[in-house]
Amino acid sequence: MSGPDVPAQLADELRDLLGPGGWLDPADAPGLTVDWRGAYSGTPILIARPGTVAEVQAVVRASARAGVAVVTQGGHTSLSGGSVPTSDRPSVLLSTSRLDSVLSVDPARFTITAEAGCTIEQVQQAAAGVDRQLGMDWGARGTATVGGAVSTNAGGLNVLRYGSTRENILGLSAVLADGRVFDGLRALRKDNTGYDLKHLFIGGEGSLGVVTAVVLKLYPRQDHHRSMFAAISDLGQVNDLYGLACAIDHGGLTAFELVPEMGLAAAVVEIGVARPITTVSDWYLLARFSGSVPMDDKVTRFLGEAVEAGLLLDAVVADTAAQEENLWRMRDELPPETLIDCKGAKFDAAVPIDRIVDLQFGAEAIAGEICGPDAVVFSFGHLGDGNLHVYVLPSLERGGRLAPELVAATTAAVDDLIWSLGGTISAEHGVGQDLLVRLAGQKSEVELDLMRRLKKALDPDDMFNPGRGAHCVVAAPARP
Ligand SMILES: Cc1cc2nc3c(=O)[nH]c(=O)nc-3n(C[C@H](O)[C@H](O)[C@H](O)COP(=O)(O)OP(=O)(O)OC[C@H]3O[C@@H](n4cnc5c(N)ncnc54)[C@H](O)[C@@H]3O)c2cc1C
Repeated sequence: MSGPDVPAQLADELRDLLGPGGWLDPADAPGLTVDWRGAYSGTPILIARPGTVAEVQAVVRASARAGVAVVTQGGHTSLSGGSVPTSDRPSVLLSTSRLDSVLSVDPARFTITAEAGCTIEQVQQAAAGVDRQLGMDWGARGTATVGGAVSTNAGGLNVLRYGSTRENILGLSAVLADGRVFDGLRALRKDNTGYDLKHLFIGGEGSLGVVTAVVLKLYPRQDHHRSMFAAISDLGQVNDLYGLACAIDHGGLTAFELVPEMGLAAAVVEIGVARPITTVSDWYLLARFSGSVPMDDKVTRFLGEAVEAGLLLDAVVADTAAQEENLWRMRDELPPETLIDCKGAKFDAAVPIDRIVDLQFGAEAIAGEICGPDAVVFSFGHLGDGNLHVYVLPSLERGGRLAPELVAATTAAVDDLIWSLGGTISAEHGVGQDLLVRLAGQKSEVELDLMRRLKKALDPDDMFNPGRGAHCVVAAPARP
């Protein structure tokens, strides 16, 4: 194929190849061409919905012949603009929505093999059906897919106990840029046979191939959970609180999350969650111990010792399924973009766990200095992983927007703070299109060079997800 009609010819070819149900006209699926936050959009020549690996290969080969980009899309819940079609180059949007079968569940091996388009919730349910459980979990579980989780190395609520997605993947298969299949769909816990190539695709953000199926670890089902919600006395002592919980049962601690009063108050008003505790504090701990035996003793000991040590003011334990559901619903709904429709400078920050407090207090100082006295630093998230989702907002007023120049100045200052604390500005959401300039401050030229060489080796024509991911990081313009 050559000439200006190439994209149209490719679209015709793919329609024939995939047949009815195997493709969508972009005009009929506007939600798939704009990202979850409405920040990025692009129009593909076609939305391809292959239902088999052979069809994925055919789409990739035809696109390669036509010189058209392929952007892979799973559940489309990316928070970094990774899953929208390119707007500067013709692209096919390859949706994995029809690769949605659980291929096998193996309780004896403690593994599950799922096609890339299975949702996290679907895999969780399949695991529960054989008395096992998946390690991964987060708010978008009903929509986010296994392939998307692999490609972003997603984190979430259970990283403390089960690790990020990377730690949960035993094997995977992927279609490469030349149409061949990398078949690494093994269920081995140990395999020291050279470079472990699956890791290139984990966190690869779709830039090296289309992940088609994954072997995930399963764990013994933990039927005993105790979630607790506690008012923190002083955020400055949160490391002692974490140390105490770990000393009581490090392996049983499955969540250790920070909740701000500003988030709880908004969740009560906006989505009607019940306030779990009458004592009001600036910060709360939402934690959970899980195990195969009752956890009551551990929870009682932790809360008792923490209150006695002056680390907690007050605490409640979820006693009923409804109370448990209320706590975790509130946690899932905390992001202020949706909770109060408020936007500002946003950070998916991870720092060494003992520097969390320096991150929060440092960000508050920056916000006050740059954005003025009404500005707030709305932070929540995975305290036990050293990962906070930090939002510098103009105020808590619904619909508030921080002026673009303040967003830029705050972003630069908080990024510097994060790096000075030995941290990263992408703990779990990936690079996507969001961090292409900002990440230059974190990655060395050697690291970036190695990434570019890997990309060149696996995708020499830059077909997969062009312009996204860490290998595309560009030097930041000099700061004034
Ligand atoms: C409400 C909400 C809560 C969230 N909470 C968390 C959280 O706690 N922790 C966390 O880490 N993330 C969180 N996320 C972000 C998001 O859910 C994860 O990044 C998730 O892994 C994306 O999966 P997806 O299937 O939606 O992928 P998509 O958004 O469709 O794609 C994400 C990236 O992966 C690529 N990709 C997708 N599938 C494939 C494939 N089969 N092969 C190759 N590349 C592929 C895409 O090209 C894109 O670059 C949250 C998102 C929302 C909306």
